[in-house]
Amino acid sequence: MNSCIFCKILAGDIPSKKIYEDEKFYAFLDIFPAGKGHTLVIPKEHSADIHEISSDQYGALAATAKDVADLLQRKLSSEGTTIFQMNRESGWQTVFHIHMHVIPRWSDDALHKPWDIAPAVDSDLVELQRIICE
Ligand code: 5GP
Ligand code: ZN
Repeated sequence: MNSCIFCKILAGDIPSKKIYEDEKFYAFLDIFPAGKGHTLVIPKEHSADIHEISSDQYGALAATAKDVADLLQRKLSSEGTTIFQMNRESGWQTVFHIHMHVIPRWSDDALHKPWDIAPAVDSDLVELQRIICE
């Protein structure tokens, strides 16, 4: 039995507030929203995370998130948009069916960047570049 919450939402076993649907993707309002209009965009085919899904499917998911972002911006007159996409426990993912968070933003909303701004040590960047590109 599939215990995935988002697969249950897709099956209609758990109710959700749909705002967009097509053949391959589904978008619905988050029940613990970071702000007004916080929406989750998911593929109908289950993949756990970015490391499991194909590049083509990920591209199509991102394109759908862009359309949803435009829809939210138009309907809610938001000033900006923040997209989050968490992967695996270390990447803050809690529901292991890949999804994009589309969060309409206003300059006076309550969100903060989740990291502290501090300059990198240049030699660390050089070493990382070497490791990643070699
Ligand atoms: P993650 O932490 O995996 O990136 O995001 C999971 C998101 O799913 C969270 O923002 C959480 O609020 C949302 N969520 C969890 N369960 C449900 C649910 O049953 N319905 C809806 N609409 N959202 C859910
Ligand atoms: Zn699933």
